[in-house]
Amino acid sequence: MTDLAADASPTTDTAPPAPVLVVIDRARAGAPGEGRGWHVVDSAEPTLTVIDLGVTRGDGIFEAFGVVDGAVQALEPHLRRLARSAALLDLPELDLDVIREAVLASAAAHARVPFALTKLIVTRGLEGVPDSEPSAWARTEVFEDHAAERRDGIRVVSLDRGYRHDVARTSPWLLQGAKTLSYAVNKSVLREAARRGADDVLFVSSDGYALEGPSASLVARFGDRFVTPRTDQGILEGTTQQAVFAALDTLGHETAEELLPLERVREADALWLVSSGRQIAPVVTLDEQAFAIDHELTTTLVEALWARRD
Ligand code: PLP
Repeated sequence: MTDLAADASPTTDTAPPAPVLVVIDRARAGAPGEGRGWHVVDSAEPTLTVIDLGVTRGDGIFEAFGVVDGAVQALEPHLRRLARSAALLDLPELDLDVIREAVLASAAAHARVPFALTKLIVTRGLEGVPDSEPSAWARTEVFEDHAAERRDGIRVVSLDRGYRHDVARTSPWLLQGAKTLSYAVNKSVLREAARRGADDVLFVSSDGYALEGPSASLVARFGDRFVTPRTDQGILEGTTQQAVFAALDTLGHETAEELLPLERVREADALWLVSSGRQIAPVVTLDEQAFAIDHELTTTLVEALWARRD
């Protein structure tokens, strides 16, 4: 078997294959129309209008599906999360059958590569246009491999997210826990991490609980027990974290979702950030504290993640 933890990157001496763009014509459930509800367009051509609410207000939702050797990973968990995000934003009920087909079509039309990412975006539609339909599209492109991260680990800083851990219950209008297009904060914290000499971030609630990264879930190992922060704290249900826990269950380890005070995280034997894009990255430092990389387990988990074909 290839050493996936070491290097699974495609060769880079040729230009990467062209991205594939599928525009979804009928994102809303029950929308009129015949046929399949999506079509492939030239990804180099402009397709979005400047009054799209996704652009003017960041008002929309998205999912990013890993595509390993042509196979879309965690299709149904991503679609379920998309539906939850749509409900939190009071978007119209989505036609998940059309969206599923569009995601699969976009991935299938892309050149076969070791790893690509399909981004599915749904916006509220057009600004100032009453009853406008949602805009939606699925775009697949080669995704940079994170082999170095898997091997060497990442340096993480904890940053205050500014909301209490119960924000999703007390203030659902803040949309914490929805995968919205408003990721400016998620990008800004990465710049803050870089200013502090780190690679990534662990968000912490204002009352001291570890939450998630700006684009990843946290997994902590305490001996033989693996814990991820409870998802009722205004964080995403990570599809990769769920797959990691399934692999750990198979290996006979105990897994749990809990409230994790940051101080408790500091007592962990090992930490990982996991997501559809990077798959899994061991944490080597959290703030000033060093953590050992469990190379063997990381490799086992990487192989389990890459072997997924659904
Ligand atoms: N949390 C946030 C804020 C994310 O943006 C992501 C993924 O992009 C995740 C967690 C991990 O989710 P998944 O494993 O489904 O990619």
